[in-house]
Amino acid sequence: ERKNNDFQFIDVGRQEPGKVAAEKRKVEFAEIYHSYEKTEAEDQSHRCLECGNPYCEWKCPVHNYIPNWLKLVSEGNIIEAAELSHQTNSLPEVCGRVCPQDRLCEGACTLNDGFGAVTIGATEKYITDTALAMGWRPDMSKVKDTGKRVAIIGAGPAGIGCADILSRAGVKPVVFDRHPQIGGLLTFGIPEFKLEKEVMETRREVLEGMGVEFVLNTEVGKDVQMADLIAEYDAVFLGMGTYKYMKGGFPGEELPGVYDALPYLIANVNRNLGFEKSADDFIDLSGKRVVVLGGGDTAMDCNRTAIRQAATSVQCAYRRDEANMPGSKKEVQNAKEEGVEFLFNRQPIEIVGDDKVEGIKVVSTELGEADENGRRRPVVIEGSEEILPADAVLVAFGFQPNPPEWLAEFDVQINSWGGVIAEEQQQCKFQTTNPKIFAGGDMVRGSDLVVTAIWEGRQAAEGILDFLEV
Ligand code: FAD
Ligand code: SF4
Repeated sequence: ERKNNDFQFIDVGRQEPGKVAAEKRKVEFAEIYHSYEKTEAEDQSHRCLECGNPYCEWKCPVHNYIPNWLKLVSEGNIIEAAELSHQTNSLPEVCGRVCPQDRLCEGACTLNDGFGAVTIGATEKYITDTALAMGWRPDMSKVKDTGKRVAIIGAGPAGIGCADILSRAGVKPVVFDRHPQIGGLLTFGIPEFKLEKEVMETRREVLEGMGVEFVLNTEVGKDVQMADLIAEYDAVFLGMGTYKYMKGGFPGEELPGVYDALPYLIANVNRNLGFEKSADDFIDLSGKRVVVLGGGDTAMDCNRTAIRQAATSVQCAYRRDEANMPGSKKEVQNAKEEGVEFLFNRQPIEIVGDDKVEGIKVVSTELGEADENGRRRPVVIEGSEEILPADAVLVAFGFQPNPPEWLAEFDVQINSWGGVIAEEQQQCKFQTTNPKIFAGGDMVRGSDLVVTAIWEGRQAAEGILDFLEV
């Protein structure tokens, strides 16, 4: 039994797990954070103040029981901690790795006020990694089969969240995905230095052990028809993500040497995982001067992938200042350590070159009035044009929903910006305009986060259970 120390948060400072040295990690596609040792995890968890009304739980989109599982870890009780963390989160080991904790749970920790927040993310990862390595698996012994079956389109976090809840309620989930592996953007998007692919392989085993069936390499609308799924299953869940790349709308975007972020990242993952169909798909930036446009998670992943491909230089141009970057602060810091040069307050206006990219014309900006979302708009400074020399430009301006056209045939309505209409505040949560079809994740809310997609998938499963009256 651990000695109770009410002042642990003063005696023991916030300590994240160590990182692989930048010189070593920038040449390999492997996770950069080490795992906690048992005593480190216990000491860090014990820093939690056990606030009566914990802000961290409110700020966490899946409302994890954070102080409760921190207490279990501090007492060395990993299996109970894993049981508890799986009550609210379908992929705790993934969220522990990739959530932007600085603006979610850890940003809301009371200790953030000068003492250093509890390392919630690293502990969440530690709990699941350790419990799974010890052989722990979700206990399904009390689950009674209802005989119902639900088709899930998309094996990303939304689809997995939905499958997790359904299987625990005795409803059989059959998950279809066009990719050869589960995970959606967790596998075919987020690079290995943030999330190693073995993590999803292990999770696949866990889910299959719970009775979730995956039908991979299968595109709905092509290899399998939606009408058949609607006829054969008791309900259908759509978790198909967003895959339409936003363009800058400036001249030169069509020049050879300009690449959209996601195909670049996916080609790199495909090569690393051995899924590459043709060597022509791979985009090799070794020996190139690379400029990345954007300031979100995708831009950070492009920066750091280009560094690992041995680009000569990687510059990241972003139109606001560092404080207003949407990406996780931790990842910006990691990118800096690995040699990415940030050019803040720079807005691209043209990609220049005769028959291929030679540079990118940018103007400097300063922050003006706030827009309707409260974010200050960048305003161009006159006469500040400059050209950044470049051999390759990666465009990472984000994504827009692009639901397949065939959805309209099934009375599933789309809103003005392409999102599928499915709301939380209705009798059956996340039901679309077709009562038998539910939806969640990026295709409903627009591109967002892993943890919000998990939440919506889980909530939609609750809606499906209400609809099926089981
Ligand atoms: P997806 O993960 O996109 O999964 C959708 C799945 O549906 C895909 O596997 C797709 O193949 C499948 N599918 C689509 N249509 C069909 C069809 N017709 N038939 C069969 N299958 C189909 N979020 C974070 O929280 N932290 C991060 O660090 C982070 N980094 C990111 C980095 C990159 C490069 C990108 C692009 C995103 C990142 N995100 C991050 C965002 C996060 O990955 C997404 O918000 C999340 O994956 C959305 O989950 P989803 O299940 O809605 O969709
Ligand atoms: Fe924090 Fe994300 Fe875990 Fe919630 S799911 S506790 S926000 S790391």
